[in-house]
Amino acid sequence: MTKKSRKTKQKELILSEISTCNSLFTADELYKKLKKKDTTIGIATVYRLLKDLRKKEELHSFICERKMIYSRQKNNHCHFICQKCDQTTHFTVDKIDFLKTKIKGEVCHFQIDVYGTCVKCLKT
Ligand SMILES: [Zn+2]
Ligand SMILES: [Zn+2]
Ligand SMILES: [Zn+2]
Repeated sequence: MTKKSRKTKQKELILSEISTCNSLFTADELYKKLKKKDTTIGIATVYRLLKDLRKKEELHSFICERKMIYSRQKNNHCHFICQKCDQTTHFTVDKIDFLKTKIKGEVCHFQIDVYGTCVKCLKT
C-alpha cells in the first residue's frame, strides 16, 4: 500500500465517523473512536481535517466549558453562566434578526455567552 492511499483511507474513515455524529463532539472524543478502528491514525490528521471542514462550513465549532466542540448543525450555541456558582445552562436563540442588523456579511453560526446570577443563587 502506498502512503497516499493510506492517508486517503484515513480521511474517509474520519469523514464517515463524523457523519454518524448527531450531537456535539470534541476532537478528543472523535479521535478515541477512530483509534479503535485504525490505530495508526494521528491526532494531527484529525485536527487538520476538522479545520478543513470548518473552512468549508461543513462543520461548526463552539467553545463550551473551555473545550472546542464541533457540530454538523449550524445551530447556535448559547450559555447562561452563573458568576456565583459557575453553573452553565444552555439555551438556543431562534431569531437572529437582531444580529443581522449589526453584521455586514453572512452569518454561518454563532455562540453567545451571557453572564449573571442563576435562580438558585438569587434565592440564597
Ligand atoms: Zn458555521
Ligand atoms: Zn455549551
Ligand atoms: Zn448560581
